Amino acid sequence: MKEVRVRFAPSPTGALHIGGVRTALYNFLLARQQGGTMILRIEDTDQNRFVPGAENYILESLKWAGIEIDEGVGKGGPHAPYRQSERKSIYRKYAKQLIDSGHAYYAFDTEEELEAMRERLKNQHSSEQQYGGGTRLQMKNSLTLTAEEVNKKIADSEPYVIRLKVPANEDIQLTDLIRGEVVVNSSQMDDKVLMKSDGMPTYHLANVVDDYLMKISHVIRGEEWLPSAPLHVLLYRFLGWETEMPRFAHLPLLLKADGNGKLSKRDADKAGFPIFPLNWTDPRTNEFSKGFRESGYLPEALLNFLAFLGWNPGTEQEIFSMAELIQSFSLERIAKHGARFDIQKAQWFNQQYLKAMSGADLSKYLLASLANEKINCPPEKAIKICEALRERVSFPQEFWEQGKIFFLAPVSFDAQLVSKKWNADVVKFLTRFIDYLKALEIVEVSEIKQIIEKTAHSTEIVSGKMMQPLRLALTGGASGPDLMMIIEILGKKETIKRIEFAVATLPLKV
Ligand code: GLU
Repeated sequence: MKEVRVRFAPSPTGALHIGGVRTALYNFLLARQQGGTMILRIEDTDQNRFVPGAENYILESLKWAGIEIDEGVGKGGPHAPYRQSERKSIYRKYAKQLIDSGHAYYAFDTEEELEAMRERLKNQHSSEQQYGGGTRLQMKNSLTLTAEEVNKKIADSEPYVIRLKVPANEDIQLTDLIRGEVVVNSSQMDDKVLMKSDGMPTYHLANVVDDYLMKISHVIRGEEWLPSAPLHVLLYRFLGWETEMPRFAHLPLLLKADGNGKLSKRDADKAGFPIFPLNWTDPRTNEFSKGFRESGYLPEALLNFLAFLGWNPGTEQEIFSMAELIQSFSLERIAKHGARFDIQKAQWFNQQYLKAMSGADLSKYLLASLANEKINCPPEKAIKICEALRERVSFPQEFWEQGKIFFLAPVSFDAQLVSKKWNADVVKFLTRFIDYLKALEIVEVSEIKQIIEKTAHSTEIVSGKMMQPLRLALTGGASGPDLMMIIEILGKKETIKRIEFAVATLPLKV
C-alpha cells in the first residue's frame, strides 16, 4: 500500500472552527495508526479573506489539542514551503501546462461583461447560468480571440484569469471512502477559474497541485468540499496524475444539537458555549469569543468528544485515550449522516476525565486558583477538598468556585432557608454539638457522626432535621459536598467559629 500521507489544509481566514479540529484529528489518527505522516499546509491564496493572526491561532490550537504535525508550516519538510502564498510560481507552471494541453484557457472578460452574460442567460431563461460549455464561445477568451490578440492583451498587461475547459456531457465518477460512489455530469459544472487576475491560484488548482506534489494519499476534509471533488478529479486527469490521485473521505457535517441544520457560531453564541478551541478576538470586528481551553475543557476530553462526532468504535466504550483512538479509528466507521453537536456530551466527557484524575493532579487546579486569590493552603488540604468535590465538578475552575467555602466563611446566608429552617431547636442542637466538638481529639468523619448522634440523644432533637441548618451555618447555602467531610476539612476551630457566628447573627423563626 501507498505510504499514508495526510494533510490538514486550513485557510487562515479567522479562528479555527471546532469542526476543523475534528478534521485535523481524523487526519492525525489515520497518520499515527498507519505509521504515516501528518502535514499542515496553509491555504492562504485568497488575499481578500486573509486574517492576520489566524495562522498562529491554528498552530497554537493544534498544539494545545495535542495534534502533532510531522511536516508543514512551523515544522518544515521535504516539500517546503507549505504556505501556498509562497508557492505561486509552482501553480503558474501547471496552469500553463493545462493551457498548452488544451484543458484551460485565458479569459479577459471584465466584471461588467460577466454580469451582462448572467443577465442575458437569466432573461433567456436558460438552464445554464454559468461560464461553461454553453457560453464560453460567446465570451472574450483565448478560445474566441486569435493568438495575436491574446498575446497582445497579455503583453499590454490586461487583467485575465485562467479557466478550466470542462468537457461536455461526461459522467465524472469518484469513490469516496465515506459516501461511496459519487457521479456528477460535467454539464453541471462551470469553467472554474484556476488562476486569478492577481496572479494567485484559486483553491482548486493550488489544492490539487499541492496534494499531488506532497504525495498525499488520503484527502480527509469536511463535506462542504464534496461538490468540488469532481472538479479535482478532472484536474488530476488533465494534469496526467490520475493514477496518483489520493483517496477521498468527506466527513459528515456538524449539526445543531437538535439535528436541525448546520452548527453555526451564532448557535453556539446563543447557547453560550464555545465554538473555537482557544480565545479569539476577531481583528476585523474586535468581537471576542471564549475558547474551549479557557472555558476549562481538557484537550483529551475535547478530542474524545470530537472523535465521536461522526465516528464510533462499534462497541459501548466511550472513553478513549489518544492511544486507544489511534488504535481503534477507521475511516470505514465514519457515518454518512451529520453528527449532532451536543455540548452536554462534551461536558460529560470533561467530567469523566476530571473524575479519573488523581487528587494530587486535581489539587493543582485549586492551588492555582488559591495562589491567584493569595490564599495559602497546605497541599494535603487541597487534595482532600478536590476529592470531596470530584463527583460534583465538570470543569477545573469549579474546584475553586465550589471549594471557596473551605476558605471563606459565609458572610450572607440563604434567606429562604433561614426563614424556613432556623429555629430554637437548631440553636440548641448546634450549641450542644459545638460543646461535643470542642472535646473531640480527632475531627474525622466517623467521630463527627458519633457526636451528631450524641447531640441528638442528649437534646432529644432528631438529627435528620438538623443537617440542613448545619450546612447553612457552615456554608451559607443548601448544597455542596458531603457535610461531614466539610466539617472534617474545616477543622474544629473554623467549624465552631462559623456555627457561633450563625447562632449570633441569624434571626430565629418565631
Ligand atoms: N483550505 C480548505 C479549507 O479551509 C481545505 C479544504 C481541503 O482540505 O481540501 O477548508
